[in-house]
Amino acid sequence: MRTACKCRAYPTSEQAAVLSRTFGCMRLVWNKTLSERTRRYHSEGARTSCRETDATLTTWRRSDDLGFLSEVSCVPLQQTLRHQHTAFQNFFSRQSRYPRSKSRAGKQSAHYTRSAFRMRGGSLILARTSTPLEFTWSFNGVDASELNPTMVIVSREPDGRWCVTFAVDVRDPAALRPANHVIGVGLGLTSFLVTSDGTRVSNPRLLHRKARNLARHQRRLARCRRGSNNRLKAKAEVARAHRKVRNARNDFLHRTSTALVRSADVVVIEDLNVKGTVRNRRLARAFSDAGWGEFRRQPEYKCERAGRRLVVIDRWYPSSKTCSTCGHLLAELKLSARHWPCPACRTRHGRDINAAKNIRAAGQAVARGDSGDACGADVRRQGSLLPLSAVEQDARIGELGS
Ligand SMILES: [Zn+2]
Repeated sequence: MRTACKCRAYPTSEQAAVLSRTFGCMRLVWNKTLSERTRRYHSEGARTSCRETDATLTTWRRSDDLGFLSEVSCVPLQQTLRHQHTAFQNFFSRQSRYPRSKSRAGKQSAHYTRSAFRMRGGSLILARTSTPLEFTWSFNGVDASELNPTMVIVSREPDGRWCVTFAVDVRDPAALRPANHVIGVGLGLTSFLVTSDGTRVSNPRLLHRKARNLARHQRRLARCRRGSNNRLKAKAEVARAHRKVRNARNDFLHRTSTALVRSADVVVIEDLNVKGTVRNRRLARAFSDAGWGEFRRQPEYKCERAGRRLVVIDRWYPSSKTCSTCGHLLAELKLSARHWPCPACRTRHGRDINAAKNIRAAGQAVARGDSGDACGADVRRQGSLLPLSAVEQDARIGELGS
């Protein structure tokens, strides 16, 4: 199994200087190549290949005015060109927006492939540095002294902390014992999620809770004179405040997703394409604060490692408006209605739990129906799942915001 082990690193001032210079050169290579690509695309309508950008990099490293590029390791520079190439491929296949230029602010990271580092007995020496990079190891299952990474990524967080990530192949973990259980998960904003078992996990709303604290730091930053030392300090404070929110959110998401994967053999979630659908800015912030994008990703690899099955049901499926007892489909359900009685079978439903039960049933039908591996794959409209209009999807997303 391929995985990544990320830990804190403590470079010496010498190493930090080399790494910072590497980051600077990477930014320069990225931005210069990007503008060259853009110019060429607009004037000639031509795409630039990987080989061409590599050749340009070589000429830059040999030239007089850009000769300082050869003072840092070549590997991270080539890797940044690879990443830009991928960014363009994603852009051309309409998966992402046009690649943007890189700035000094924010996270910096450099990728080192095998030729650019040496790792022996748990000590790591990067290219162009003479001493081992100090790092802390906190992975109990993996022996640091036997580490043989295929790639090493050194990064500097906006608050100045350094990290090193090792891409390693480790033994596959043992599959979890069968739980003989299928669980349906409905997502929301008032409760982060509600399961078909009736468990409710409340939304920690971490950014919302810390908003006042963040705003205080940001006001202080805004008052500082540009270029002053106090401004640098204030900036570090803002970055630290953001880090705390980020760490708390990640912790919450990991705990929640791990608990889900442990509890059932088949985990059924609904697909929500939130990105680009929400125009309301306050709602959009609440969405990113909840961290659903990450929550959608975590069960995928966790299920795979644990030998569990993840079923993602189509986002057009009317999970809230269908009666989980008799299957009656309401024509309309108000966003404000937390409870509703079924006109056909007279069952009184709690809105969220009813939705989670329907999601579970839909996932079960999918798990029974097809033999292929649906783990992580989108399951499109199946059987009785009714296609709905775009209005319905907007309503569903509005509903999650209510
Ligand atoms: Zn009913």
